Amino acid sequence: MSAYNKMSVKDIDVSGKRVIVRVDFNVPLDDNLNITDDNRIQGAIPTISYLVNNKAKVIIMSHLGRPKGEFKEKYSLKPAAVRLSELLGKEVVLAKDVIGEDAFAKVNALQQGQIVMLENVRFHKEEEKNDPEFSKKLASMADIYVNDAFGTAHRAHASTTGIADYLPAVCGFLIEKEIAIMGKALENPKRPFVAIMGGAKVSDKIGVIKNLLDKVDTILIGGGMAYTFEKALGRNIGKSLCEEDKVELAKELMDEAKAKGVNLVLPLGGKAAKEFKNDAEMKVFKENYGDDWMGMDIDDSTIELFSQYIKTAGTIVWNGPMGVFEMPNFANGTKEIARLVAESNAVSIIGGGDSAAAVEQLGYADKITHISTGGGASLEFLEGLELPGIVALMDKKVRNTFVAGNWKMNKTPNETFDFITKLKDQVKDATTDVACGVPFVCLQKALDAAKGTNIKIAAQNMHYEENGAYTGEVSGPMLKEMGVEYVIIGHSERRQYFGETDETVNKKAHAVFKYGMKPIICVGESLVQREQGVTDDLVRYQVKIALLGLTAEQVKTTVIAYEPIWAIGTGRTATNEQANEVCAVIRDTVKNLYGQHVADALIVQYGGSVKPSNAKELFEMSDIDGGLVGGASLKVEDFTAIVKY
Ligand code: AMP
Repeated sequence: MSAYNKMSVKDIDVSGKRVIVRVDFNVPLDDNLNITDDNRIQGAIPTISYLVNNKAKVIIMSHLGRPKGEFKEKYSLKPAAVRLSELLGKEVVLAKDVIGEDAFAKVNALQQGQIVMLENVRFHKEEEKNDPEFSKKLASMADIYVNDAFGTAHRAHASTTGIADYLPAVCGFLIEKEIAIMGKALENPKRPFVAIMGGAKVSDKIGVIKNLLDKVDTILIGGGMAYTFEKALGRNIGKSLCEEDKVELAKELMDEAKAKGVNLVLPLGGKAAKEFKNDAEMKVFKENYGDDWMGMDIDDSTIELFSQYIKTAGTIVWNGPMGVFEMPNFANGTKEIARLVAESNAVSIIGGGDSAAAVEQLGYADKITHISTGGGASLEFLEGLELPGIVALMDKKVRNTFVAGNWKMNKTPNETFDFITKLKDQVKDATTDVACGVPFVCLQKALDAAKGTNIKIAAQNMHYEENGAYTGEVSGPMLKEMGVEYVIIGHSERRQYFGETDETVNKKAHAVFKYGMKPIICVGESLVQREQGVTDDLVRYQVKIALLGLTAEQVKTTVIAYEPIWAIGTGRTATNEQANEVCAVIRDTVKNLYGQHVADALIVQYGGSVKPSNAKELFEMSDIDGGLVGGASLKVEDFTAIVKY
């Protein structure tokens, strides 16, 4: 589930920034527009409080009900704004519109730590159409987008997904918790792993059952959907709910379970009624029902059978009631399963909807590890589907960061010694890897000064041959013997002035590994190439050729530096987004060549007028893992400041 390793509000600096947060305040209201259950608002409090306490200017957006694209008073978020204000003990200003004059005026007036709530995003039909112009408008109000609406994360709407195209996008604490707990249960469950599936229809849960068959030890099936399976076994199910066109599929699922060694457990019997009514005549049947009877709940023997699995489970995932629990006479099965799940020592996860309501009504909520706030979203998550509202967020960095200085043709050996002697105290506690790329003749002094410190030394070039008639060149074995760890290859200046080509870069990369060092490979486009729109293709090509023939293990320890030539020493810088985009292209190229795990490990540096004033924001971008720093690496204070970001 690496697709869900997302950056959270904690991974980004929100102080003083305008932060637009998508929450799920789609709360139930009575006829007088009073909120009857404020769980969803409570769920968003941790994220909102964090933003307020960290001095963000907070803009809140949500949908409520189905106003079908037009303003309707009864779908106003006013009750939610009032309730949120009560819960926070703080003013929440409600805008009269979503992207209109009033919203912009109120957002512009926001001070640090203050909150504005936009009106219902579904007052615009563009919301559910994920309209790019509407997304852009929403994005234009803010500097950062936070998604904390798990309940709508399975919908690709403008305020959940589209907006992430235009802003740095991270998740809030609610989404973080949902994906952490459910992700862990699916990926690395405590065993035995027991799934309990119920509810009306098999057809709604086929995907979930299929996905879980690869993960669980046992599936207990109850509720209306059980009868389709029972029919597949040849039992008489009377008038019970049955999806005739799914009987064959039920058979297949049972065969698949058997083949995979999963216990698929069906009810032993059920409570049946003559009519679909609470006070209808009632009778308990074992396996085969009478022709006129319909199964409405699981019976005691089934509860007993299921309890044996629940009591010994390590992880439980439950979705869907065991019977028509809305009718008190047929609620016992669902209640008993809720009690058993609450009393078990297992990690227990309830996938929203009716089963969550049952657990809450019975007062067991605090005994459950996690009750998902999103019925549909949690089902899709359990199905193994990607939730668009989460996929759109920036990935968490799983890599180290690495800041390397490229001194170019600067500093003498003695200056080098002094520089590194000063630098080593400044960066000794750095959390990032640090290197200095120095001229050949300075290498020895640099290595002497850096000995026993966390500073690594890089050469700025190397010949690919081991030795021979190459006047003026330096080879791998020479550098290795000195103790050099990294070699910068393919820098744009070498490509421009010294005839370096993609082919020689590739030969050098092989040689660097052959002699036990690691390459920092530079790629990047010129201004003309950028203007012609060939940046992505060119960079993909450069990366492909540079890595040709390297193994996955080698590429995992390779550093690729993206240097837009037009931004080197010109004072022009790429915007954070431009830089990140190309770094993402580099990673994607590696992913296509070597797979996700290699791409995840690859360090991609950005180089091109990196300075203390822009380093922090650049290094916060999802695909930038540090920098190859030119001019600013020649001053101890500047380089230190950059390293500390
Ligand atoms: P779902 O939304 O698929 O989780 O289904 C929940 C609905 O399934 C509830 O409204 C239950 O009343 C219904 N249900 C559960 N068991 C039965 C049953 N044996 N016959 C008819 N409906 C049922």
